[in-house]
Amino acid sequence: MSQNNIAPTFEVLHMEPQNTNSVLVVVGNDAVIFDAWGLASDWEKLLTARGLRLRAVYTTHGHADHFSATPELVEKYDVPWYLNHEDLDLLQWANGLLDFFEMPHIPARFREPVDVNAGTMEILPGVRVDVIETPGHSAGGVSYYFPDFGILLTGDTLFRDSIGRYDMPGGDMNALLQSVSKLYDMNLPDETYVVHGHGVDSTIAMLKSENPYFK
Ligand SMILES: [Zn+2]
Repeated sequence: MSQNNIAPTFEVLHMEPQNTNSVLVVVGNDAVIFDAWGLASDWEKLLTARGLRLRAVYTTHGHADHFSATPELVEKYDVPWYLNHEDLDLLQWANGLLDFFEMPHIPARFREPVDVNAGTMEILPGVRVDVIETPGHSAGGVSYYFPDFGILLTGDTLFRDSIGRYDMPGGDMNALLQSVSKLYDMNLPDETYVVHGHGVDSTIAMLKSENPYFK
């Protein structure tokens, strides 16, 4: 049986201290994480308990509450960290935000993230993702859409009933509103499952009826 016959699973995880929605995608024994919030040691325990090999970590944007575990994880597993390069400048602000959460600082030295831009990538066998550039909450914000599985990860561009902040470094209200419109204009099916950077998940139908910015 080829690996392509193993159905992928998608799981939203709320790592301690609960704040950010992380998504674990698994095919067979291979896993990738989107927005690896929390402690690297907690992720290692989870991966080990499930017998999973980490293959990569993807980040929606460069705020520490979306990548806190990543520098250590990518070093330990020797895998790439994908982040849009427009957000590299934000990494210098990571520890201030981690202090706020009483979380350990990221290592002083860490491997350079790999740039992620608009286009389609195969992240695991049989799992394609479309990268959509959605700046505004930060300059390098991206969303991830899995066309074969009807799942959209918006990061902090969009929440179920609101949009992300645009008052932090790299934030831009007009760019953010354009990015939200870009997601709307994709005309995704109503039943598309949407995971936001924080808060409850939604669907495209819910966003159309409940989110005044989603137009
Ligand atoms: Zn953010």
